[in-house]
Amino acid sequence: MNKNEYRDIYVFIEYHEHTIHDASLELLGEAVRLTENRKNLGYSVIAVILGEPSEETLHELGYRGADRIINLSHASLHTYSTEVYTTLLNELIRTDKPDIFLVPATVLGRDLAPRLAARCDTGLTADATRLEFDPEDESSALLYVTRPAFGGNLFGTIINETKRPQMTTIRPGVMDALPRDTSRPFTIDKREVHPEGIQDSVRILDVLHKDHMAMDIAKADIIISGGRGVGNNFHVLRECADMIGAEVAGSRAAVDEGRIDKEFQVGQTGKTVKPKVYIACGISGAVQHMAGMEKSDFIIAINKDPDAPIFSASNIGLVGDALEILPLLTQEIRSYRE
Ligand code: FAD
Repeated sequence: MNKNEYRDIYVFIEYHEHTIHDASLELLGEAVRLTENRKNLGYSVIAVILGEPSEETLHELGYRGADRIINLSHASLHTYSTEVYTTLLNELIRTDKPDIFLVPATVLGRDLAPRLAARCDTGLTADATRLEFDPEDESSALLYVTRPAFGGNLFGTIINETKRPQMTTIRPGVMDALPRDTSRPFTIDKREVHPEGIQDSVRILDVLHKDHMAMDIAKADIIISGGRGVGNNFHVLRECADMIGAEVAGSRAAVDEGRIDKEFQVGQTGKTVKPKVYIACGISGAVQHMAGMEKSDFIIAINKDPDAPIFSASNIGLVGDALEILPLLTQEIRSYRE
């Protein structure tokens, strides 16, 4: 393998119907930032999308940072299949030789990326939170990929010196998408593919959608989050949340105790959130929790223990019983509104 033949940053695009997954838009933004920081490489940002997306979807990728959009087109690719996607992307990697291949660490991305990395015999750094080019050498395209390790207590930086592409999955909500710019130039490279011949041991009979799509806490402006300290009293948080249009979330301890669903878990193994206001009730502030909420604009913590670590990340800290303080807040807001 000749590393010099590999170039550009490819971003795998996940989408549903006409909506591009935010995590893919974030990766496009990050890829643009990387190429701009190392212009001397002359790298382009290339979005890779499978199936038959609408023209609007393809254009949107250009407005959000892609210089070129490769569409592997076939109607059957509408539904994700690990084997089919892996085979087609492996072929694309063999012909196009991307230097860097970024995949969002969504449920789909976490399924696809390891299989694809193994198929093209390269390494994968999973669940990264930071990317930068080799800081020591201005001419280098070696990617330094940072990710939490040992339960979030350490951050490790991983490089892939020998194999290509440099492949990584990146946590949703960590990178910033670019604002939409309809004046950006881009090209669309549509390629008809033929997945019919690919042996797939899985046959998808039907795709069932959830009746009720819960609000994605990663997009919420205000979050009231509960930990073990609020016990089975999440209704107290919900009452306050309803008053102020907030979403309710929880720590892993609260999820493990069955107080709230896993999709509302904030933290390293949950979601990364960046609301305008994050109210943490009865949450101690373990590093794994803080990794998911410390980028919130304004953090209010309520905890009985004055030494709780959550206070170190808070703009306002209230030492006291959340089950006494929150109802007072709800009552105050209600009376203010009436
Ligand atoms: P506790 O640590 O038990 O804290 C409860 C807090 O409530 C205490 O500070 C206490 O003083 C306070 N309190 C008690 N009663 C009241 C009251 N009435 N009013 C006010 N305060 C009160 N955790 C996450 O949250 N998200 C993750 O994604 C995550 N991922 C993890 C991944 C790994 C690999 C590992 C090892 C751990 C992970 N954890 C995660 C777990 C994490 O380490 C902590 O165990 C967890 O965050 C603790 O949750 P907690 O703060 O709700 O509970």
